Amino acid sequence: MTNHGVTVPADLLESVVRGWRDLSTRLVQLGRDRPEGDGGVFVNPPITRGSTVLFASLEAMDAAGHRRYDDEQLIYGAMGTPVQHRLEQVIAAIEGGTHAQIVPSGLAACALPLLACLAAGDHCLLSDTVYGPTRRFAEKVLRRFGVEITYFPPLASESELLALARPTTRVIYAESPGSHSFEVQDLRMLGRVASQLDARLIVDNTWGIGLIDPFALGAHISVQALTKYPAGHSDTIIGAVTVASDADWRLLRDTAIQSGQTAGPDDCWLTLRGLRTMGVRQERQAATAIAVALWLQSRPEVARVLHPALPSCPGHENWKRDFTGASSLFGVVFDPAFTGADLMAMIDSLTLFGIGASWGGYESLVLPTTGGISRTCQSVTQDGPACRFHIGLEAGELLIADLARGLDGMSATRRAGAGA
Ligand SMILES: *Cc1c(COP(=O)(O)O)cnc(C)c1O
Repeated sequence: MTNHGVTVPADLLESVVRGWRDLSTRLVQLGRDRPEGDGGVFVNPPITRGSTVLFASLEAMDAAGHRRYDDEQLIYGAMGTPVQHRLEQVIAAIEGGTHAQIVPSGLAACALPLLACLAAGDHCLLSDTVYGPTRRFAEKVLRRFGVEITYFPPLASESELLALARPTTRVIYAESPGSHSFEVQDLRMLGRVASQLDARLIVDNTWGIGLIDPFALGAHISVQALTKYPAGHSDTIIGAVTVASDADWRLLRDTAIQSGQTAGPDDCWLTLRGLRTMGVRQERQAATAIAVALWLQSRPEVARVLHPALPSCPGHENWKRDFTGASSLFGVVFDPAFTGADLMAMIDSLTLFGIGASWGGYESLVLPTTGGISRTCQSVTQDGPACRFHIGLEAGELLIADLARGLDGMSATRRAGAGA
């Protein structure tokens, strides 16, 4: 692919898009009704809106309640409607687990397994680079209930991690790549340490959906903000938690029911619809993203591109080993000669990049990541002003032209300032 003088080497391009292409057929097939006998079926499942479910007798109602771990059991609207159960089956299959619970947001998906697996007096090892609101949940809620938290550097070695562990460590919580700073974690090692400690490894796998098998790598629970690529159109807030054992499913399902976690049928339906095209959207978005990332890397204003498929990204070797593709979200650290204000002015001057929270929709976004993120350990994004790009379905040439104007303007301002 050639864009503004950027040639993405064929093997690099293949390494970022292969997983999405491989996923596409499954995304079309999963969770669909098949016509049987003489009857016809609609391609897509219907939306069932409901609270009360009626039973023929009290005995039948009681029996249904006892089958609350069954994936399709209808008991009460808060425990899931048919389209929610369908989405749960599709997510469990994509994640490589056995069961999934749909919850009303990605953040609820981060919180639910922490609530399920931790009790007062327990210790949780939390990756320093988790999504900000996950850290806030740990600080504001878990600590209040007597859970102790230690932040670990995302690329800590096995011995460093074991040195931070305690006899009460029950959870290791990872997010790979790290929020805003994109360190790709060694999930195999984290899984090994978790089993040594008799703890659970929970992974926020939002960036890597469909591109890794978190359970094969050693995770016990995988978290998804389905708001991102699965819903894919910036119009839905929804999440999922997937497990791979019956014991974990019972624990998670009970905690979900006890804390009232459910999602509206319309949101489930929109997410199921979004998933059908996720592979083809991402094949395109990932290809454009790597071209934009390489182009940015060639610019004098840029110190470091934090794209997991590039060697400049910390933990790149873990990405190479574990992932079958890359997403279209990555970070950039600028030369420290530029100030945060220079970067803000550059961002404000872009015309094709929206300024806003979240990502995973069809449109490109940019967000400064200096200052606004909290870290306990040292972070790669602290070397200079930094931002995060989400690449959408726009033409790569146009995105690069927009960025070229922005960066030329940023350099010109700096030169004028230096001369003054
Ligand atoms: C966005 C995001 C979440 C939270 O998702 P919401 O649906 O916005 O609550 C959690 N984890 C990661 C990695 C995210 O990017």
